Amino acid sequence: MNKTLIASILAGFGVLAAQASAADAELNLYSARHYQTDEALYSSFTKQTGIKINRIEAKEDELLERIRNEGANSPADIFITVDASRLAKADELGIFAPVKSKVLEERIPAHLRTENWYSYSTRARVIVYNKDSVKADDVQTYESLATPALKGKVCSRSGSHPYNISLGAALVKHNGAEATETWARNVVANFARAPKGGDTDQIKAVAAGECGVTIANTYYLARLMNSDKVEDKAVVAKIGTVWPNQKTWGTHINVSGAGMLKNAPNKGAAVKFLEYLASDEAQAYFANGNNEWPVVASVKVSNSALDTLGKFKADNLPVGELANTAAEAQKIYDRAGFR
Ligand code: FE
Repeated sequence: MNKTLIASILAGFGVLAAQASAADAELNLYSARHYQTDEALYSSFTKQTGIKINRIEAKEDELLERIRNEGANSPADIFITVDASRLAKADELGIFAPVKSKVLEERIPAHLRTENWYSYSTRARVIVYNKDSVKADDVQTYESLATPALKGKVCSRSGSHPYNISLGAALVKHNGAEATETWARNVVANFARAPKGGDTDQIKAVAAGECGVTIANTYYLARLMNSDKVEDKAVVAKIGTVWPNQKTWGTHINVSGAGMLKNAPNKGAAVKFLEYLASDEAQAYFANGNNEWPVVASVKVSNSALDTLGKFKADNLPVGELANTAAEAQKIYDRAGFR
């Protein structure tokens, strides 16, 4: 090998090394999740690693559309969002790259991660009932919402919302497609009104006596419970909460999660960020930002509403598996008229 060739190879390495360090000095985050604590979450990462975070915040579908349009030239390193069926949808589009990380494998329980994306917080989908018109004993399971005794008493947000699709996907897994379809038909037959609004609207309708029972994510409940507003306190006073399916497969849980993108220009920084999100400090910020629970078992957060709700048995179905039956759940809801 002559001297010039060696020199040019060395120069080549130098260029590559320079590019790698320049590339990993920044991180481009596409986020469909935005909470007050995010600022602290991200600035702490920058302080620890020197990696600057550029954040693009938009609605889930807009971000996915953008990532697809940008294709191989996409600057996006990380996609972060809520809901397992949304993460699964993103995964189906083939936008993620698998990440092998000992830190993530050790800290995040196996059922809360997939090859391509990781969960960082959990929320539960619980039953909320009006204490004057419904007995807790009558609404102990998701299945119970289909019983004739609740005719005209059930309120729900749309059946095409990801939270209900993820729940439907879990029901298909546990009870089978046929039983889930019968269940969906009977729940629809029990509706007090056509589905409208979000989870908080359902909780308020239950408190107002417009309906007797609904299902809602725990963080909406916690938000009301932690609120100082008189009207929110009045809502909380009227309602009771049930951890569904404690004697069977456990309460359905959903997640917030993130993954590294296939075309990420800063893969080194992206892995560091995914690992940072599983650190004790980040876990606390991440969970507290939306009244959720950390996924790392050793991390404890103190949230008076979640403490009041207490402990429960969660469904341990792998979140990645919800993706397999999500499309089926949507079809079942459509056939059952749960729109
Ligand atoms: Fe939500």
